[in-house]
Amino acid sequence: MQEKIKAFMDEVRSRNGHEPEFLQAVQEVADTVIPYIADNEIYNGKNILLRMVEPERLISFRVAWVDDDGEIHVNRGYRIQMNSAIGPYKGGLRFHPTVNASILKFLAFEQVFKNSLTTLPMGGGKGGSDFDPKGKSDDEVMRFCHAFMAELFRHIGPFTDIPAGDIGVGAREIGFLFGMYKRIQNEFTGVLTGKGLSWGGSKIRPEATGYGTVYFAQDMLLTKNDDIDGKTVVISGSGNVAQYAAEKTLQLGGKVVTLSDSGGYIYDKKGIDEEKLAFVMDLKNNKRGRISEYVDQYPSAEYHKGKTPWEVPCDIALPCATQNELNGEDATTLIKNGCICVAEGANMPSTLDAVHTFQDAKILFAPGKASNAGGVATSGLEMSQNSLRISWTREEVDERLKGIMKDIHDSCIEHGIEADGYCNYVKGANIAGFVKVADAMLAQGV
Ligand code: GLU
Repeated sequence: MQEKIKAFMDEVRSRNGHEPEFLQAVQEVADTVIPYIADNEIYNGKNILLRMVEPERLISFRVAWVDDDGEIHVNRGYRIQMNSAIGPYKGGLRFHPTVNASILKFLAFEQVFKNSLTTLPMGGGKGGSDFDPKGKSDDEVMRFCHAFMAELFRHIGPFTDIPAGDIGVGAREIGFLFGMYKRIQNEFTGVLTGKGLSWGGSKIRPEATGYGTVYFAQDMLLTKNDDIDGKTVVISGSGNVAQYAAEKTLQLGGKVVTLSDSGGYIYDKKGIDEEKLAFVMDLKNNKRGRISEYVDQYPSAEYHKGKTPWEVPCDIALPCATQNELNGEDATTLIKNGCICVAEGANMPSTLDAVHTFQDAKILFAPGKASNAGGVATSGLEMSQNSLRISWTREEVDERLKGIMKDIHDSCIEHGIEADGYCNYVKGANIAGFVKVADAMLAQGV
């Protein structure tokens, strides 16, 4: 089996050698799905996984825009349309200086499995730009978004490809992008998700990725007759996902002790309560400040510059910042300090080494494609509401979100339980996600 996996990866590497993040995401899937294909006649000899790692379409375009001083800048825009076997392409847009084809291909590839797991009819895609919204004025962000959509519009549509937010793309950016799409197409459609509530957005969409991650952690703990109540929780990040993961953790009785950004992390031994979290939300969302400012407001907390929070003792860790933010050494430290459950709120925040360390120690570990699927699942619910021209209540959406997270958890259990009873959620998520997409591809022919 190892030779089969190696031969497959050699082939993928020969086509994508300079794309480390993409290869990492493919390796993780290959390790679990290739043995499954070998055991299941219908997928044999169809080159199905090789077809899945090749994007159906890879779009790259120039985005030129003018800053407040009249200077012209040029960025690169992308949309990766990875797989449309089970529905239109669906996935976020990321605006961050690190964005490149490798990062977006890994995200698009993961999105295919994630969207399949949600039980909703959504294919997978991802896009974005190396544009950095940090330090830009609202007008500059607006001009960039308008320029970006002036090209992207021709490749998307409510039945073709439905982008949403990701790192660097929140409510403000979705508004500007939607405004330009509507102007060009003269059409008010559900072409983007994460829209404002008064113009087609869904209740709970902003909260959904963070809430869903915590619901998933709760489902995992339940398999051990345990729950979040009274647990110490370490969270990385301080953006949309981290904020609502913290909010839900507090609602379920957990104690959140850390948050972070690219500059470092804050450690509040007393716990980040509702009031302190409201301060962080205002700091990050309205003032666009740094997490270090938390200690000016709450001096009993510590700020650890240039570090990640994995050295802080905890029961549960929720990595909610970005890819590869938690390595093998961090995983060892977390386990040594008593961590029993890790649920990824970000996409691929754990390195392969870290994932293997968690699994070898047999602690609960959920990959982002399962545990953070609540965001895109609620985007799917936004699409349904747009098509039906209705809007569901907060309670209705939250109930559906909870139900979807439970279904994803059940799928992981169905395909992930190993001989000793340990649930390998990575294997479970990869196989469950694969089966639905592969069956559709087989039915539709080569
Ligand atoms: N960017 C989010 C994700 O990684 C959400 C995508 C969406 O809502 O389409 O799943």
